[in-house]
Amino acid sequence: MAEAEPIVGIDLGTTNSLVAVCDEAGPRVIASPNGERMLPSVVRFGSDGRVEAIGAAARREAETHPYNTIASIKRLMGRGVDDARDDAAFLGYEIVEGPNKTARVRIGEQLVSPQEVSAAILRELKHWAETALGHAVRDAVITVPAYFDDAQRQATRDAARLAGLEAKRIVNEPTAAALAYGIGVGEARKAQTIAVYDLGGGTFDISILKLIPASEGTADDAAHFFQVLATAGDTHLGGDDVDAAIVRLLLDETEVAPTATGRQQLRVLAERAKVALSDAEQATIVGEIEQETGVHRVERVLTRKELDALALPLVERSELCCKRAMRDAKVTPEQIDRVVLVGGATRMPLVRQRVGALFQATPYTALNPDEVVALGAAVQGAVLSGQGDALLLDVLPLSLGMETVGGAVAKLILRNSTVPARATEMFSTSVDGQTAIKINVVQGEREMVEDCRSLGEFTLRGIPPMPAGIPQLEVEFLVDANGVLNVSAIERRSGARVAAQIVPNHGLSREEVERMEREALAHARDDMTRHRVVDLIANSKLDLKWIGDRLRKLGAEVDPSYRAELERLCGALDAQVEAASRDWRSIDADAFHKTKEALDKASVRLHEQSIVRTLREDD
Ligand code: AMP
Repeated sequence: MAEAEPIVGIDLGTTNSLVAVCDEAGPRVIASPNGERMLPSVVRFGSDGRVEAIGAAARREAETHPYNTIASIKRLMGRGVDDARDDAAFLGYEIVEGPNKTARVRIGEQLVSPQEVSAAILRELKHWAETALGHAVRDAVITVPAYFDDAQRQATRDAARLAGLEAKRIVNEPTAAALAYGIGVGEARKAQTIAVYDLGGGTFDISILKLIPASEGTADDAAHFFQVLATAGDTHLGGDDVDAAIVRLLLDETEVAPTATGRQQLRVLAERAKVALSDAEQATIVGEIEQETGVHRVERVLTRKELDALALPLVERSELCCKRAMRDAKVTPEQIDRVVLVGGATRMPLVRQRVGALFQATPYTALNPDEVVALGAAVQGAVLSGQGDALLLDVLPLSLGMETVGGAVAKLILRNSTVPARATEMFSTSVDGQTAIKINVVQGEREMVEDCRSLGEFTLRGIPPMPAGIPQLEVEFLVDANGVLNVSAIERRSGARVAAQIVPNHGLSREEVERMEREALAHARDDMTRHRVVDLIANSKLDLKWIGDRLRKLGAEVDPSYRAELERLCGALDAQVEAASRDWRSIDADAFHKTKEALDKASVRLHEQSIVRTLREDD
């Protein structure tokens, strides 16, 4: 099956373009021979009309070649010269009339069609894919905005043909984003209403899609079952506006009078701070800004709160579009089942939070928002080439769990569970005063983390210091009908919480699943023993510490012969812990267990004595 020539997925974007492929391990972006995952949609032509530079190189040198460097060609695709004139003001190059009132770009003596410019981009992506896959690539699924009309779609097909590619399907970008999450793929297709919120650097689009449920058989065209109910947007709203707002704040607060270069320097600092604030609560803006009179040094701490205040009016503008789209689609927020985020600016926590609140649904964020459209196009490609089966997900092929103390795995959802599936489990800390807990989500059948596949790691912070074992950590795993895993963790005493999303089956091939199953069987006995020993070590350490603490605290109140007995039992258990920690195979798990039991039994009296003492202290 892998030998069949794949149909690649291409996101032909205004600013950047990407190519992806989907095999049975799921969709993945194909990088260039130099390792770049995105191709800036910029082409420079020579005076003879030939491509002189493309992508990052063309963009880097754009300032020195302003008249023959073509960016944002997507805005002209399939449009008449009269329509294109509105955009001309934003584009550096000259737009003239071609045959049948079409738009053409003038480069020296040459007239170049938008299709030819897009073809240069597609040809480069084709080359990336052929280099990475090691064979010819002829077929592609290419995405376009949902609002593209027939002429714009036809122009995209023509561009593909010029590049030596057949566009097997032209798919709407929001539909592709939904497909990337497995929505609408396979037999589990259920009626759903989906909002796709796409906030890039300079443009905003919202689409409301309806997924038509599966009737019979499997679809050979997943995208076909999505209906676009409504679209809305703003062609001049995006992350760049947030950067501009930060720059304005800096200019208002300081005396700086930047030159054009200085302004650019400020924009770079602003964007860097904005990106940092997606993960941190505060960021320091520091740098030297060029002005006519010399350089000015800026240094300022920007908090997430301040950024949110600056970004809020912009996010609110996007919300108005969302409300209009819902009105046009005749749906209410309660009727939206899923929200998919696209575009780099949706990494801002404020955006995620506001969008979640507006649509009353936790947005899908597991996939890279810059790549999700290309990934979805690749999923459609795989379905068209008959490889869609691998993406079916009615049952989980491998168990899902998390790391516990000592590197053991606690399985929360077992393999072959049907989706949706949900499980919760309580955990605690193993060290006194621990204020953060690492949650490592793993997949596989083995008992130890090192033998499983790690799907992602995140940290629950903000737990007030408490003795080991006291925090009550509740972890919930929820795999929804689309196969997306939502992990959430809450510490009940403090209310500290954290949540994350993962697509467990991406990057997992059938062979890998089979190998993991085989290995689990082969190691079953050893694994069980090791898990047991690891748990015994952890629990014994807690016991030993507790008993040691009590003996010290109660001092002479403990009868000397009882104290001696406890110390002997503690010594025996301690020796087992030592040996087991060095090499779990070196000890007999049953004997270890018995030693621990003996101490547990003997320490009952100490527990009682300790409670009496505590009660006395409370009086
Ligand atoms: P796109 O056009 O989809 O690549 O989106 C680009 C926009 O996303 C730019 O405004 C970036 O500054 C913004 N962006 C990228 N990464 C982040 C991030 N981690 N946090 C906030 N904004 C980001």
